[in-house]
Amino acid sequence: MREMPEINHCIPNRNAFWCAKCFTHSQFYLESERDGTPRYSCRECGFAMFRPGEVVPWMNGLLFGTLLLGGVGVSLLPHELETYWQWSPVCLAFAGFFGLIGGMMWFYMRKYFKWSLRQSLKSKNALEQEADVHRYIPNYESSEEFDIWALQFLAQSDLQELHDRFVQSQPSVDKDSNDSLQLPPPNY
Ligand SMILES: [Zn+2]
Repeated sequence: MREMPEINHCIPNRNAFWCAKCFTHSQFYLESERDGTPRYSCRECGFAMFRPGEVVPWMNGLLFGTLLLGGVGVSLLPHELETYWQWSPVCLAFAGFFGLIGGMMWFYMRKYFKWSLRQSLKSKNALEQEADVHRYIPNYESSEEFDIWALQFLAQSDLQELHDRFVQSQPSVDKDSNDSLQLPPPNY
């Protein structure tokens, strides 16, 4: 059962980081690559997560570039066999490079598209139940990382309400609590 019914990590959100292994918007560890670019790793499986809405324009651009450069390279090839300057190998090499990266993006985006379609066919209740029993269930914590994650789904004011709810529900420390450790009387 979820402790945060405000957030359903099983509802597709193109602008939220998604894990292609867990098939959900799991929480992440925000780390830095060597060159300083941020890396969002899934807390459940460690896989690098991505924002579908951010990847789509890159993927389309790279695949379009692959087609364009591939087409130019192939059409130039027969005319350049005898010439000194040959642009077709350069075009084909770039087409291959773009195709590799664009293809990899397509591979993972296809998983997201399929999942998103499957989820869109489910009722709201079914999605709520799925989120309650999913093998990965997000946990509340008070941290900057948590806020970045939660703000993908909630407005700032809703996030504040969530924090308030958890702060209020924390058990107050009672000095006369019966839970204190009871030592047995010493045996002399
Ligand atoms: Zn994962």
